[in-house]
Formats: sequence, structure tokens, C-alpha cells
Amino acid sequence: MKIRSVRAAAIRDFTAFKKPAAAPAWIVGSDGGNPLSRYREFVGKGSRYPDPWPDCVCIVTGENGTFGMGMTAHSGPVAPIVNECFGPMITGESAFATERLWNMMSRVASARFGLGGVAAYALSAVDLALWDLKGKVLGRPVYELVGGPAHDQIHCYATGFDIDWYLELGFEAIKLPTPHGAGESTAALEANEAVVAGVREKVGPAFDLMMDFWPVSDPAFAIELGHRLRPYDLRWLEDFLYPDDFLAYPEVRRRLPGQTLAAGERWYGDRPFAHAAAERWVDIFQPDVLWVGGVTASLKVAHIADAAGIEIAMHAGCNDPYGQHLCYALPGNRWGEYFVGTAPGESLADGYRNVPGMALPERGKLVPSDAPGFGIELTLGMIESAL
Ligand SMILES: [Mg+2]
Repeated sequence: MKIRSVRAAAIRDFTAFKKPAAAPAWIVGSDGGNPLSRYREFVGKGSRYPDPWPDCVCIVTGENGTFGMGMTAHSGPVAPIVNECFGPMITGESAFATERLWNMMSRVASARFGLGGVAAYALSAVDLALWDLKGKVLGRPVYELVGGPAHDQIHCYATGFDIDWYLELGFEAIKLPTPHGAGESTAALEANEAVVAGVREKVGPAFDLMMDFWPVSDPAFAIELGHRLRPYDLRWLEDFLYPDDFLAYPEVRRRLPGQTLAAGERWYGDRPFAHAAAERWVDIFQPDVLWVGGVTASLKVAHIADAAGIEIAMHAGCNDPYGQHLCYALPGNRWGEYFVGTAPGESLADGYRNVPGMALPERGKLVPSDAPGFGIELTLGMIESAL
């Protein structure tokens, strides 16, 4: 079936589909995710660096009128790439030819303006819409179309600081953001260690605990912090470098022997993962299906990982229907991340990236919707009303 039209637009952060929060989530007002935390003058000012653009939705319509929906971030630069470059290029092509279309879009992006960053977000949005369309037309869930399921359910871990709440909800593992970055120097090492020590004491020795070093972004600091945290037996350390700091990955690996390392949520397309596999930068790849280039790119990454004996842990894999289908379908994916974007006591249904029709963790487990495509229960009218 041929593609009739491709359209991308800013969406109002999906708030049209959920209740406003009664209480702020842990991330509100925190420094989490602040890439400038190495500078002393920016410590505690993470809220100065919000994403300036709303999220982006992409609708691909087939010649029979069926539509597929993709989502991604950074609509400001992403929507024009879809509407003015990728869309016109693939209109009239076979909607089922996802490998060909991904290759066409990625080659043009790479040759003209680079595949990394915003082009990969645009590619993701189109690819996800194509897979949703393919599933709807064939009447099957995407996890079946890509060869799954590989598991009877997804085991979820919670990301955040509300430890008692996550334990009450039945999560089997927890990932802690790193509260203090390199700008605070030795005081940050002490404070970060105190947080991990407290949580380890609460959850006990056999509980899987991980840490996301995202605001660290400094090789020496990551190495020092990694050494300090060895007694707390963390399942993995994640995102311990500025994403493109490719020369530093082998050095951190060499100086943290025996520590399981994870990275890749901000690597785009399959090439960085191929490089990382060849040099064994990390033990776990964490592609984000909304950022890396969609389902097609995630499958390529998963195959590279599998052949190299590297695990997959899809970034925020259970926070959207797209990641859920991949976590369920990929044999190498053992955990589904659930970033808890709601405060304790609030329904998870009102959280980050939620759309109608997507499954939610129950007692720390999740099975994706088996409805056609990704099972998103949005009509074109509902989507239009949210633009
Ligand atoms: Mg991360």
C-alpha cells in the first residue's frame, strides 16, 4: 500500500489526554538532567534549561485512509524536517517498506545535514508512524511484526527518588538519578554516595539498584564516583559521559574494572552502537525508540548488541507504547524502564508520555496492548484537537 501523506506538528505535551498533576513529581525543580551541572555557577539551576519546543506527532496516511501515529521530541526543528524533506521524499512509496524508507531517509539526512540529533528525532517520528500503520493495516500488534514476543511480560524498574512509593507499587528494581554533578566537586561525591548508601540500606542487598550519571558528564568525576559506589553493588552505572565523548568511554571502562556500564540513549542511528560494540565501550545499550530512529533503528541496534554479547535496556522503554512493544519483542532486553513522572499517591496513568491505550506497570510488570499497531486509542480528531 502506498503512502498518501506524511505530516508532523507540535503537540501540547500530551496534556490534552491526562489530568493535571495534583502534586509535583520529583523531577520538578530538581537539577536532574542538567547537562551544565559541571559549572559551579549553574548548580541547582537545572530549571533554566527546559526544552524550548513541545513534543512532535507524525501522522502517515496510507492510500486506503488508514493512518499511523509516531511521536518524538523537539517539534521546532523536527516538524520542518519531516514536512519539507522526509515526507515529500517518501510519499508514493510502499508504506510497508520500512527498511527501504529508513535507509532513504537516513542516507539523505547523513549526506545533507547529519543523521545525529534532530534528524534522528524526525526519522524516529516517521518510522514509528509507518510501523503503526503497518500493524493497523495487517491487524497485528507491532511486537508480533518484529518477531516477538520474546518474554511473557516486561519486568519494570522505576526511575526517580520516591523509593517508598516505588516499593509500594511493586517495582522490582530502581534507578536513581545522580543528584549532584561535577561542579560541586568532593562535596558532590560525598552527597551522591550518601544518597546511594541510604537507598541500599532501605532496599536490602538483593534488590537491583542502578544509577544514572547523566548530570556528571565528566570522565574523572565519573571514575571517582564509580569507585566510591562500588560497596553498594549497583547493577549498572549509566550515561556517565557527555554522549559524544567517544574517546573517553574506553578510559572509563579501563579505570572502573568489573563495573557494569550502560549508555546510548543519546546515540543516533546504528553507527555509534556498531562502534561501541566493536570497542566494547559498555555492557548495556540503551537506545530510545523515539530518538534513535524508530523501530527500524532499534532493531538494528538490538542485532548489533546480540551479536556482540551486549544487553539491551531500552531508554524509558515502558513510558510509551513504542518502547513497550520493543521491550516485549527483543530477547536481549531484560528490563523495562518506567520513569515515574508523577508524585507519590498519583495514578501512573497521568504520567510522562502517556497516551490512551498504552499499558501501565502493575506490581512492577507490564504486558503491552495487543491491539493492531501500537494500540494507541486516538482518533485523528483527538490528535487534531491536541495540536
Ligand atoms: Mg539515562
